[in-house]
Amino acid sequence: MPEFVGIQNGKDAAAGIRRSASTRPAECNKSNYASKLGDICERRLVYWRTKGDRAIPPSDGLVGLWESAKLLTPIFLDRIFNPFGRKQTPAWEILEQERRPSDPLFLKLNIGLKVDGIRHVADATGRMRPYSIVEFKSMNGNLFGRIEDRDSLGMTYWAAKYPDQVLLGMLGCELPEHPGWLVIINRDCLYECKIIEIPFDMDRCERLLARAERINAHVTDGTLPRQICRPDICQNCPFLPICSPKLEADPEDAPLVMKPGEDDELHKLLADHVLLEGSRKEANAITKKLKGRLVPGQCLVSGPIVVNWKVHGKGWRMTVKDTTSEEQGAS
Ligand code: SF4
Repeated sequence: MPEFVGIQNGKDAAAGIRRSASTRPAECNKSNYASKLGDICERRLVYWRTKGDRAIPPSDGLVGLWESAKLLTPIFLDRIFNPFGRKQTPAWEILEQERRPSDPLFLKLNIGLKVDGIRHVADATGRMRPYSIVEFKSMNGNLFGRIEDRDSLGMTYWAAKYPDQVLLGMLGCELPEHPGWLVIINRDCLYECKIIEIPFDMDRCERLLARAERINAHVTDGTLPRQICRPDICQNCPFLPICSPKLEADPEDAPLVMKPGEDDELHKLLADHVLLEGSRKEANAITKKLKGRLVPGQCLVSGPIVVNWKVHGKGWRMTVKDTTSEEQGAS
């Protein structure tokens, strides 16, 4: 149970979180966690297995968020979600919480998996039968409002991994016939949730299994996959200090010199980019001058050219359109 002892201000609250959270000393992951296998960086997955004890510890705030999710999810499930499911036709209920995989391949590939629950659905006789797997994820109201479907999970690299976790759950628990449920819970209001259905995808599962195999080989051989060198991902990576990826081009590095005709398509793309980049700069300079001459919100017509304005955020967005072709089409 949490022990918020002697809390008087924000600093002490952080200490309270540390004391109450079930934080264990940092250690290497003993298996390839299914919740992580879809990570954008394979090298990081190897680090979790071999250098997990050297990862930068998560902030108190992040630990507090994880602990809150652990406390809130059972409340959501027992008091809101399952009572709702029991009233549906056919009735359903989330059971077998924290079920481990039955597929022996997971043991062989050392994939650590515990699904949040199995959705059991009533058959014609009213008997509950295992139907599909369910994973619960909670997030703040702001992000919750922006998640609409599976694609929008890609807004953050950590949420982008969720569908892969569901897929591995379907495979591991041998329940691929019906789409798995990824249930997104609004942490600010537990009565709001969104269900994203994840249909089974054997190709994707095979790629994730192959990844687990590669990670095991790296762990055994003491090797590492290549770095992804992405500032947006690497800057927040707990292994940044030991990985030290190259996050900016070194002017001292010799460039790769392509021979004439080596890749005509790439050469044309580069040439087009240079051309359009020049036009874009010119267009921006003209737009700036125009904005200095026009009154925001005042639409204007000059021959076939029409200027319109739309409110955009706290300002105005201008559009300038040549209507010559429309006029010709109308005549
Ligand atoms: S620092 Fe970047 S390249 Fe290195 S493990 Fe982390 S995410 Fe991967």
